[in-house]
Amino acid sequence: MATVAFIGLGNMGGPMAKNLVKAGHAVTVFDLMPEACADLKAAGAEIADSAASAVGNVDYVITMLPAGKHVRSTYVGDNNDGLLSLLDSNTTVLDCSTIDAETAREVGLAAKAMGIGFMDSPVSGGVAAAAAGTLAFMCGGDAETFEKARIILADMGKNIFHAGPAGAGQVAKGCNNMLLAIHMIGTSEALEMGARHGLDPAVLSDIMLASSGRNWSLEVYNPYPGVMENAPASNDYKPGFMVDLMVKDLGLAMEIAKSANFDNSMGQRARDLFEAHQQAGNGQRDFSSILEKLQR
Ligand code: NAD
Repeated sequence: MATVAFIGLGNMGGPMAKNLVKAGHAVTVFDLMPEACADLKAAGAEIADSAASAVGNVDYVITMLPAGKHVRSTYVGDNNDGLLSLLDSNTTVLDCSTIDAETAREVGLAAKAMGIGFMDSPVSGGVAAAAAGTLAFMCGGDAETFEKARIILADMGKNIFHAGPAGAGQVAKGCNNMLLAIHMIGTSEALEMGARHGLDPAVLSDIMLASSGRNWSLEVYNPYPGVMENAPASNDYKPGFMVDLMVKDLGLAMEIAKSANFDNSMGQRARDLFEAHQQAGNGQRDFSSILEKLQR
């Protein structure tokens, strides 16, 4: 069993850290919110009073934070006085947050220069998969660090991929979520177009599922209310995966495209539609509610 410092115990980090406790690891946690720490203490974790005091002599440091600026300040700090300055080469650092690829590369390089193994390891799967321990991890870093990472990630997820060097995990996540946005919009558009010609969306869904239009949005997350009992669309678009988070991820995908001088016109269109939907007051609703925007 390993010793783990886990920092960032929000909607995702909380259940992920609990799964590590359940798997028998010695987990020390820290979050800026005392109630998030109290929840983990009840689950069997040790509470630290700062990130710095959580990381003393551990096998793994894992972070699940909102954005790149939090990850940079946690690991590098303002004057290279972040967590990296407290670690040695025995510790493996895994950042599971969804952040910009550039920051992931920067932190990865800073860690490498200090002889510390770092992987950007963003996840796909959302809160339900975090609780069930079935997340997919997309890792960026060197092969030796990946071998150490997969041991602990296996207690929080079921698919663990080595995407490439530092930053590659974030690039993979950006590509995936851009495609998710595009096929959710495409699926919504096709269903609404059929419905306007009098087709039953459930029948049209079955037809497309057995045809070349088949995709994940149709298979498990149908955006048309009433077609799929357990999908957010049949529960007033209660998330699920919020529009706010999709807009964040599409912003990161735009940066990934820009830094490769690549014109991702479908991704840009998807970003524009989701941003307009967010600005119309739908940020906290499930992202499949984009169907309602297309209906208007
Ligand atoms: P969240 O806002 O619920 O949790 C973030 C936590 O980090 C909060 O508890 C906050 O107090 C804590 N925090 C912030 N700065 C900190 C610091 N400096 N030190 C210690 N704690 C700090 O967010 P979330 O939904 O858990 O998402 C976390 C990350 O996972 C994000 O990057 C998000 O994009 C990504 N993600 C989320 C989902 C989802 O469905 N929620 C799915 C996949 C990926």
